[in-house]
Order: sequence, then structure tokens, then C-alpha cells
Amino acid sequence: MTETITNWAGNITYTAKELHRPYSLDAIGTLVAGSAKVRVLGSGHSFNPIAEPGPEGLLLSIAGLPPVIDVDRAARTVRVSGGVRYAELARAVYAHGLALPNMASLPHISVAGSVATGTHGSGVGNGALASSVREVELVTGDGSPVVIGRDDERFGGAVTSLGALGVVTALTLDLEPSFDVEQQVFTELPLDGLDPAAFETVMASAYSVSLFTDWRAPGFRQVWLKRRTDQPLPGFPWAAPATEKLHPVPGMPAVNCTEQFGVPGPWHERLPHFRAEFTPSSGAELQSEYLLPRGHAVDALGAIDRIRETVAPVLQTCEVRTVASDDQWLSPSYGRDTVALHFTWVEDTAAVLPVVRRLEEALDAFEPRPHWGKVFTVPSEVVRGRYPRLDDFRALARELDPGRKFANAFVQDILGE
Ligand SMILES: Cc1cc2nc3c(=O)[nH]c(=O)nc-3n(C[C@H](O)[C@H](O)[C@H](O)COP(=O)(O)OP(=O)(O)OC[C@H]3O[C@@H](n4cnc5c(N)ncnc54)[C@H](O)[C@@H]3O)c2cc1C
Repeated sequence: MTETITNWAGNITYTAKELHRPYSLDAIGTLVAGSAKVRVLGSGHSFNPIAEPGPEGLLLSIAGLPPVIDVDRAARTVRVSGGVRYAELARAVYAHGLALPNMASLPHISVAGSVATGTHGSGVGNGALASSVREVELVTGDGSPVVIGRDDERFGGAVTSLGALGVVTALTLDLEPSFDVEQQVFTELPLDGLDPAAFETVMASAYSVSLFTDWRAPGFRQVWLKRRTDQPLPGFPWAAPATEKLHPVPGMPAVNCTEQFGVPGPWHERLPHFRAEFTPSSGAELQSEYLLPRGHAVDALGAIDRIRETVAPVLQTCEVRTVASDDQWLSPSYGRDTVALHFTWVEDTAAVLPVVRRLEEALDAFEPRPHWGKVFTVPSEVVRGRYPRLDDFRALARELDPGRKFANAFVQDILGE
């Protein structure tokens, strides 16, 4: 490959033999049929080699396909091409008076890439972004198209698929009527005294709740509440309202963050933490995230608190969110109501990796599933043991891609192939 292609954070340089940006579905089919190894690159926001096809492989970007965003108002669905980013999708959906139920912290990520890795926002009643998908359109191993809908018994493997089944060319998503959200930020929530019932109450006190800490001191520096204006306004007695607009990373300017201080606005301008018009050009950071059963949240936070002097020096911010259980076989929130413990690290891989290992030891008893798109070192056999439907996924991958041309080193390692 003559061009140097890296992920957004710059910690992965793809070694693919070739990069192609096809402009039609026919061209995708021809390229896939004629290649031995293929991986699709979405918007490149993952922090590990999940999208890497290897030096003999083909890296395929579908960002050049004519973008399709077809909203069906009556059915309350949208059919969207896989390479479209959430910011663009959200604006189109909103223009029809409709809404996606939830969004991730950053709206710049592609739809197909996000649902492939189990990307999620927060909210005790909100599933991962893949929960909204009702149909997936793929170009499979022999270059032929396949459509898998919710009523297909293969659907459980088809959405959060790590890019291992084929090229996702389009997805159809469920929508709901548009709603407004107001965002309030509070400061200094103590961890001491937060028992499991109180944790659940805090996390359920708005439609979407995030806790942030730098672990330099016990407890949480910030609490972000995103309340739907069509839902009740409970008080939040656990922490004090912020007196200025805040960024989740202490000391960073809040100008790129979505509106705070309870100013109501459309769902897509409040559910992400960062504004769509802010262009995150380079990512001077690494990220890790561990998703574990919500009942273990307080014990897991206590375990991190005990090693916070190890964690804090390489940490920019830690975010605690909740994700409702879902039924995608490879979803990190499969079959369990989840607490998601996220870490934005400094960009120094050598300094971060030993801390990631120490953190994983501290969390191991809670059976965390690492976020597929972020940095982790949990051995693959341990990860495999945490996915009860892995055999079903392997069988589906063999059915759709018998030559396993979509299985890169990352996927083979995880699947134990
Ligand atoms: C600043 C930042 C904020 C983030 N916030 C969140 C967050 O709030 N919540 C969260 O859960 N995660 C978050 N993430 C992680 C991010 O959502 C995931 O890494 C996600 O996969 C990014 O999507 P992408 O299109 O960039 O995927 P890529 O990194 O490009 O690819 C990810 C995987 O999807 C596959 N893929 C992509 N497109 C296709 C396709 N069309 N067909 C088949 N396979 C495909 C790739 O092959 C690869 O395996 C964040 C990341 C960053 C950098």
C-alpha cells in the first residue's frame, strides 16, 4: 500500500497490501470475490488491530459509496449505508421528526463499524446501538449479497459481528418519535457510602447517566445527567450542580461539549457528549473499556479505587455508564444488564499497557468483557469463556464466509480458529 493509513488515534498503522474505496455495490462484490483476505475500515475509531487485514490482505473503505439514508416515516425505520456516520444519520432522522433511542459519546463514528464492536451510550433502559438494528445487508465471502433480518435465526450473530461475516453495505434501524433532552452536570459524587441500591438509583435518575473520575481522589469528579423532557424531573441530591460548563477531562475547555445547564435541545445534540461540528482531528489518547454485570458495579469500582494510585498517572478520565442487556451473541452486553467501565488513557502505549494489565487483574473476578474496539490484554481463551453463543457465531461465520477471508488475526484469536 503506497498510502499510510492509521486509525484515528494513530496507534495502529494498517499493513494491508491494498486499500480500495469502491464506488458501487458491484465493485465491492468483485473485489471481495477476487481477494483472499478482506477487512472493512469504518471511520477508524477503534484502538486495536480489529480492522487490520494483514500484509497480504485488502482493506476496503466503503465511505465512497453513495450515502443512502432512507427514512420510512410510517414504519418508523431508516435504511442507511454502512459507511454513514451517526452525526449525518441523526440529522436526517431528526428532519423527519424521528429519533434514534441513543447515541455514543462521539457522533463521528460509522454506523456499521459501531454496531460491529458493540458500541453503546448510557442508560439503564438503553441497549447498545446494535439493539436498534432490524436488518443487515452484507456482501459475503463469495461476493454475493445476503440480507439477515430480525426474524432470521442467524440474526443474533449478524450485527455485532466484529466485521467477520462480510461487508455490511446497509442496515435498517428502528426509530421512535423525536424527543428533547436537557443535560445537567453535577460535581463530586462520593463513592464511599454508594451501595448497590444507591448506585442503581443514581444511574436510573435520568434517561442517560455518566459518572466521570480521574481516580486522583476517591469518588467521581462529575455526573452527567441527560433527561428526556417528556420524563419526570427527579431531584439529584447526591452531588452539587456544576457552576461552569465542564469537559469530561478535567482542565479541558468545554467548548466542544454538548450544551449543559439544562438547556433543552434535540436528542442528537444532547445524547453525545461531543458536538457533531467539532472535528476531532487527532486522538492524543488510548481507550479501554470493560463491561460487567451491573450487580457487581460497586464492588468493581471499589477494586479500582484500591489501585487508583497505579491507574491515575496514565489516566485522562474514567467514565461509568450502564447498558441494558441484549441478545447479540458477541455483544459485550449480551444477556446481562451491564455497567461499562471506560478509561481514556494518555497516548503512551508503553506506559499504559502495564496499567491495563493491572486493572484487568483487579476486575477479573467480575467477569468483564472487554470492548471489542478498545485496548485490552485479557487472554483470548478467557474472553471466549465469557461468550456462551460463540460456537453459534463460528458456525455462522463458516456458513457466510467458508474461506474465512474476513477472519484476520484479531478475529481468529478471539474465535480460537
Ligand atoms: C473519541 C472516541 C469516542 C468513542 N466513544 C465511544 C462510546 O461512547 N461508546 C462506545 O461503546 N465506544 C466508543 N468508541 C469506540 C468506537 O465506537 C468503536 O471503536 C467503533 O467500532 C468505531 O466505529 P468505526 O466505524 O470507527 O469502526 P472501525 O474502527 O473502522 O472498525 C471497527 C470494526 O468494524 C468493522 N467494520 C467497519 N465498517 C464495516 C462494514 N461496513 N462492514 C463490515 N465490517 C465493518 C471493521 O472491520 C472493524 O472490525 C469511541 C471511540 C473514540 C475514538
